[in-house]
Amino acid sequence: MTDAAELVDLRSDTVTRPTAGMRRAMAEAEVGDDVYVEDPTVTALEERTAELFGHEAAMFVPSGTMGNQIGMRLVCDPGQEVLCDADAHVVTYEMGAAAAVFGISTRTVVSAGGRLDAAQLIEQVRPRDNWHLTATAAVAVENSHNRGGGLVQPLEELQALWDWSRGADVAVHLDGARIWNAHAASGVPLSTYGRLADTASVCFSKGLGAPVGSVLVASAERIAAARLWRKRLGGGMRQVGVLAAACLYALDHHLPRLGEDHEHARLLAKRLGVDPAAVETNMVVLDGVEAPMVAEAAKARGVLVSQVSASRIRLVTHLDVDRAAVERAADVLTELLDR
Ligand SMILES: *Cc1c(COP(=O)(O)O)cnc(C)c1O
Repeated sequence: MTDAAELVDLRSDTVTRPTAGMRRAMAEAEVGDDVYVEDPTVTALEERTAELFGHEAAMFVPSGTMGNQIGMRLVCDPGQEVLCDADAHVVTYEMGAAAAVFGISTRTVVSAGGRLDAAQLIEQVRPRDNWHLTATAAVAVENSHNRGGGLVQPLEELQALWDWSRGADVAVHLDGARIWNAHAASGVPLSTYGRLADTASVCFSKGLGAPVGSVLVASAERIAAARLWRKRLGGGMRQVGVLAAACLYALDHHLPRLGEDHEHARLLAKRLGVDPAAVETNMVVLDGVEAPMVAEAAKARGVLVSQVSASRIRLVTHLDVDRAAVERAADVLTELLDR
């Protein structure tokens, strides 16, 4: 909850703090040593997440970055490439991990606002059995798309990519950090999104409001291999059911309320004169602004926003920003921007 004296933090949905109910669930969690696969709460989260996405198995990881990178490594060997869009999180915000850690090459295509165009991606795929070319082992798709302002990938494009990939021996990795928001906005079942990917990483620490944690879903065979990679990377954790309990709590209590964040984002857009059609989930992008100046002036008035570039500001709604706080932020920003 926010009160008048508090900052309205719209920088990201990662800034949410665990609620009292979530903290209780964490305190009461049954735990064990998860490296021995003996933490019943982690196992429950993994089983539930696998089932939600229609996959055989799942593995808890400390971050979405680890989920993405292990997920891609499961379907791409060193010296092969992952193809994705130029603004994808996996090539923008993961510190070159695919190359630095795994020897995986990445190649990107520029897509309009991050929106998947299956045909455009497929055209760029390079075959495995050619002496001259770097083989494209996998494509990575982000849904919803972070730098695309939270846009939801069109289901027909995801389906077209998947259908093609089966005959082409190319794997599909889903960066589903905010797949929950895509699901809440589109009404497409999580299991449908899950079935259109070989590996998928989903975050509980964004809009779902858990303090830590992501889950990688895939086949049982791939998740067995993933456990070795996680341990190798130092991601094996022990009595981590306290964190998994927060994630389970989030599925029960926070997944059903994501629509509220989307409504708040549309409200912000309306107040700020942004085309509401550009707001598909919980993000609002303000283009053509002097971002450093706006961010600083807004901060001085209790509203935190993030600068995506010198001329672009991003606002993200979430669990810790109620309607009154959204209105307050809109008051500050409309005045600053003279809108
Ligand atoms: C936040 C995010 C991730 C994972 O980030 P971590 O900070 O490593 O948990 C992955 N993909 C997208 C699209 C994200 O927004």
